[in-house]
Amino acid sequence: MDSYDVIIIGSGAGGGTLARHLAPSGKRILLLERGDWLPREPQNWSAADVFVDNRYVSPDTWYDADGKPFQPQVHYCVGGATKLYGAALYRFRKEDFSELRHHGGISPAWPITYEEMEPYYTKAEQLYQVHGARGEDPTEPPASAPYPFPAVSHEPRIAKLAEDFAAAGLHPFHSPCGVMLDEGNMPYSACVRCSTCDGFPCLVHAKSDAEVLGVRPALEHENVTLLTNATAVKLNTDAAGKAVAEVLVERDGAQESYSADIIVVSAGAANTAKLLLSSANEHHPNGLANGSDQVGRNYMFHNSQAVLAISKEPNPTVFQKTLGVNDYYFASDAWEFPMGNIQMVGKSVAEMYRGEKPLMTKLAPTFSLDEVATHAIDFWLSTEDLPQAENRVSVDGAGKVTLNYKSSNDTARDRLFEQLRSLLGHLGMHEHHLIPRWAYLENKIPVAGVAHQAGTTRFGSDPASSVLDTDCRAHELDNLYVVDTSFFPSISAVNPALTAMANAVRVGDHLLERLGASGG
Ligand SMILES: Cc1cc2nc3c(=O)[nH]c(=O)nc-3n(C[C@H](O)[C@H](O)[C@H](O)COP(=O)(O)OP(=O)(O)OC[C@H]3O[C@@H](n4cnc5c(N)ncnc54)[C@H](O)[C@@H]3O)c2cc1C
Ligand code: SF4
Repeated sequence: MDSYDVIIIGSGAGGGTLARHLAPSGKRILLLERGDWLPREPQNWSAADVFVDNRYVSPDTWYDADGKPFQPQVHYCVGGATKLYGAALYRFRKEDFSELRHHGGISPAWPITYEEMEPYYTKAEQLYQVHGARGEDPTEPPASAPYPFPAVSHEPRIAKLAEDFAAAGLHPFHSPCGVMLDEGNMPYSACVRCSTCDGFPCLVHAKSDAEVLGVRPALEHENVTLLTNATAVKLNTDAAGKAVAEVLVERDGAQESYSADIIVVSAGAANTAKLLLSSANEHHPNGLANGSDQVGRNYMFHNSQAVLAISKEPNPTVFQKTLGVNDYYFASDAWEFPMGNIQMVGKSVAEMYRGEKPLMTKLAPTFSLDEVATHAIDFWLSTEDLPQAENRVSVDGAGKVTLNYKSSNDTARDRLFEQLRSLLGHLGMHEHHLIPRWAYLENKIPVAGVAHQAGTTRFGSDPASSVLDTDCRAHELDNLYVVDTSFFPSISAVNPALTAMANAVRVGDHLLERLGASGG
């Protein structure tokens, strides 16, 4: 059995960031990734291949609460989901760390404060080269440093949209963005500002993803080893059941075994729960670290809506994801509850409308598909979904994953939709037409949209109601940690990746101290 100081399972936002943070310590680190390097090929930037044929969605089958199989939108590759992400790198709001009363229930407090996380957000923004502008977003939390790079500029139609939002009394802001764009020196800019970013891999490696800015820099240190196509299938404990003694891995059809002083699981919220639940033994009969029966529970993924509005003027925007609106994040004059965040999503194009019938039924006879494609302005509305014990990932003896999920906070989601719809006339759009994007994308099973999955091993101070302690160490196992989005006790209404990255740095500092090492 090969032995290491640290084994990290999963190379996405959490695991890839942690690997980079620990790498300079000289400690022997093994990074296990079930996927391969994502191929660099022309199809990276083809809307038909990526969005319609789901080229980079990994072949996995999960089951919904009724036992119906579906293909989850998961990405098993070096860098994990960040290879495809939109790189909107938001901090959670300061208030998201406290208890918040929503129309649909309570969003619980975190066991650490925003102030404790703040230095790690700053570090993560630097690692992931976030572009943004402080002071525009009325809900933004205090920050100890400016964004490391200036905000990505709006293209003219989006600049006009920002003006129109402002004229309607709102406070649009430049969205925090992880793209390596140097607008002042385009001949030398890694990012070419293309239209195929949000939801696509970046062919020129200019997106701030966990492969490019986590795993690759980590591998520059010879003490770091990456094994691809290596799926962790079981964690075995020592005889007393107090520590993980062995990681069983399937690689190239064979089973291998690795050990380390510290084991960090970062396989994504569902697969982390699957691994812990599949590792039940006599000391942990309900799954590893699951004395509280909380592993797999409180699964969240945002009550999100991708919607398309039709601009009266053509919308030739190439890189659309530059604007956000948080005026409804906590409440509005008309409603006392949080509704969520409005941001742009990558510009839709005609190839995405292949499953066009529902879209056309909604718009015909007023608009042709070509008109829709030229005039579409695409928004992403995120409402917080609340942790609920019955929303859970479970796994049977054969390894079959069931995802039991019912949305929450639906009224808040609908209010947010109506807020935007009521503004369309002021924003230079055709009124009333706010088309849900599932009306034209292939993927019509809401539960399959697991992009923002979180919450299955939440951290907390009380071992009876949480899986991890505040260092993200399992209450019940001395050397087991989790650093993917599973640790979230609540998900906020902004995108999750920066919080996973910041927390990985925070936990990394704890691990360096525990290992008596320096680094970071
Ligand atoms: C299309 C899309 C757009 C998104 N846009 C944004 C955005 O704009 N902003 C934002 O903040 N977030 C966005 N997200 C979400 C963001 O990517 C995730 O929140 C983030 O990547 C989660 O990090 P993680 O470490 O929890 O999991 P992941 O990044 O998914 O990493 C998990 C890794 O573990 C590996 N793995 C799984 N099981 C095993 C196993 N048993 N053994 C070994 N390896 C394993 C997986 O292959 C994967 O590499 C988006 C996601 C998608 C899919
Ligand atoms: S916009 Fe920039 S970062 Fe995004 S895919 Fe295009 S080149 Fe890559």
